[in-house]
Amino acid sequence: MSTVDIFDIKRFAVHDGPGIRTTVFMKGCPLRCWWCHNPESQSMNSVTVDVERKLNGKSIKGLKTYGESVDLDGVMETVLRDRLFYEESGGGVTFSGGEPLMQYAALESLLKISKRNGLHTALDTSGFGRKDHFESILKYTDLFLYDLKNIDRDLHREYTGVDNKLILSNADYLLKKGARVIFRIPVIPGINTMDDELQRLLSFVDERKAMLEEVHLLPYHRIAESKYARLKMKKQMGDVKEPDASFMEGLRERFETTGLKVSIGG
Ligand code: SF4
Repeated sequence: MSTVDIFDIKRFAVHDGPGIRTTVFMKGCPLRCWWCHNPESQSMNSVTVDVERKLNGKSIKGLKTYGESVDLDGVMETVLRDRLFYEESGGGVTFSGGEPLMQYAALESLLKISKRNGLHTALDTSGFGRKDHFESILKYTDLFLYDLKNIDRDLHREYTGVDNKLILSNADYLLKKGARVIFRIPVIPGINTMDDELQRLLSFVDERKAMLEEVHLLPYHRIAESKYARLKMKKQMGDVKEPDASFMEGLRERFETTGLKVSIGG
């Protein structure tokens, strides 16, 4: 039986595409973004960490494992439980990660089964995948939530560990094929908020506005910081502050000059 390695399934998600959705978080990512909110997703291997919870004023220690191999039918059984909510809200299923294309065969099967069941499908992707893989899943993917992190190649390489040439060319490939694409830009102070880099991001979006659905600006937040210590991973971000509301609002106005709908958050 075919399996997929996942680290979470979130039901009733409202920030991963339209309507009420179930988001399947798949293990493995070829990038190493400094600000990653899901560092437990990066390795294909499962990771077990110490956790501590408070219950009735008492501290309870335990272990938590991120990552398990589950069969595709098991995933779909969970996803299909909320079909009625999807129908009522215009929602569906989102595959996220990590980078779901790291498990291309499982992803393709899950997308196909979802479409066979009449679900709206979204893929949350870094864009760092093979073009022929994008080509194969195009007909089963209703919406791409496509990350744009840096346009400057050196900055992208420095802060994610990979070149962005493939990512930018895959974005253009999808747009030219008529895919529905929302660009999602994580707003990370000091990494892509310098004026010249913001201008490059804005120009990249503006030149493609006729083919794009929307833009989402995702402010960096520090809630994942404690995960790095628990996972014994190096936290690269230092004490970078979250962008404040007025900065995000200014940025929204700047991107709205493209005429596109621009949201803060997903
Ligand atoms: S692409 Fe996403 S999951 Fe992968 S390292 Fe970057 S932020 Fe984390």
